[in-house]
Amino acid sequence: MNQPAVTVIGGGVIGLATAYQIALDGTKVTLVDSGEPRFGTSNQNAGWVAPSHVIPFAAPGMVSMGVEQLLKRTGAFGFSPTAGPLLASWTMKFMRSCTEEHVNNSVPALTELLNNSIAGFEKLIANEGLKRAPEALWYIFSSDKAAEHAHHEVELMTRYGIGVREIDINEARTKEPILKDTAKAVVEFDADFGIDPKSTVEILTRLCIQNGVTIRTDETVARVAATRNDVSIATNKDSWTSEYLVIAAGVWSRELAKSLGANLPIMPAKGHSITIPGLANQPMRPFLLAEQRIAGNALDWGLRLSTGYTLTSPKDRNVDMKAVSKLVDTASKVLDIPNSTVNVNPWTGLRPSSPDGLPYIGPLSNAPRVIMATGHGMLGTMMAMGTAVLVADQIAGRSTSRETLKFSPSRP
Ligand SMILES: Cc1cc2nc3c(=O)[nH]c(=O)nc-3n(C[C@H](O)[C@H](O)[C@H](O)COP(=O)(O)OP(=O)(O)OC[C@H]3O[C@@H](n4cnc5c(N)ncnc54)[C@H](O)[C@@H]3O)c2cc1C
Repeated sequence: MNQPAVTVIGGGVIGLATAYQIALDGTKVTLVDSGEPRFGTSNQNAGWVAPSHVIPFAAPGMVSMGVEQLLKRTGAFGFSPTAGPLLASWTMKFMRSCTEEHVNNSVPALTELLNNSIAGFEKLIANEGLKRAPEALWYIFSSDKAAEHAHHEVELMTRYGIGVREIDINEARTKEPILKDTAKAVVEFDADFGIDPKSTVEILTRLCIQNGVTIRTDETVARVAATRNDVSIATNKDSWTSEYLVIAAGVWSRELAKSLGANLPIMPAKGHSITIPGLANQPMRPFLLAEQRIAGNALDWGLRLSTGYTLTSPKDRNVDMKAVSKLVDTASKVLDIPNSTVNVNPWTGLRPSSPDGLPYIGPLSNAPRVIMATGHGMLGTMMAMGTAVLVADQIAGRSTSRETLKFSPSRP
């Protein structure tokens, strides 16, 4: 075959956005995916694009919240028996990262990455037909301490310069009739919006093709090997060399990096979603049922609800109907949705989660021609465009900000 300058492994949102951005430099790119692109986690997630998410997942309070969710058995957090030996060390690293210092260190880097991403999304919306939900994101609180939680959220977010405001609950119910009386307080995040993640990957696939990216589907990369000057790639069908390799293979990136001598603690965190079409009281916006940890989004064709963060193995890809029915049950405590929604477009996905809540973006120290673009956890869709710009800059040798070193795969 004609050797591409860059090979990208993975046709999820990260691989597609990255292949497209690199191709914009006039570079010859091949993208390989073991299924159809759009097969992985990127397809049916909640579709939030939330620039407010500058606080990493590993933050003070997250351990106690995880324990509370486990005890309440909401299904929002859990461990699978198939999680394997990485689970213990990942959990220890996660707990060690839940500090104020880690948050303060991470916020500037995540802000920069998210701002670049939002700029990319704005172009997709303005020029490529990506639709956004009409209204801004809400956090909806329903516990006895709802008002207290809402004040706390506003205080915390304001501290980091994020535009938030409390909405009067009666006004909220008028705007979103799907809310039951159990909803007691609402906070609006000015700049956060919702998109359809499937449309995003479809548009990125089209842009890749239009810009000359070769997409190889139904082909699995079995082996990679690197020298200081190039990388060789062997699939179940073919083999070739490239000047650079980008590993954007979601939860499956860990094994590929391992074969190159890098030990990246990427844990699959399983979640589920359903999408309910044709609701008369369809909301206008993305939202979080805060105490229930259920994310919602108003897609063109229905209401998406998603939840779950079960640490598991990369092989755990079946929809768990018990988890889906728990999702519907829990959501219906706050939302007026029909009971018969359990079987409506159920889906599951595996988030590639790092223990410190930061993605791995950058070259491997012992294989500098291999660039990792993974570990985005809960934020892969919204960080995709920013990740793509950073990887393209690294490959083209353009200067990048010092903040981005915090995403280095060789960080401590
Ligand atoms: C329930 C749920 C809700 C979420 N909500 C949001 C949200 O609202 N906003 C947000 O930003 N993020 C959200 N996320 C997270 C987001 O979905 C992920 O971070 C993102 O999809 C990861 O994208 P990716 O491209 O890294 O991985 P994937 O989409 O998993 O893509 C990886 C691809 O690599 C391919 N691959 C793997 N190994 C090989 C190999 N050896 N050879 C060839 N191909 C290979 C796979 O086939 C796959 O297509 C959510 C996730 C879940 C589960």
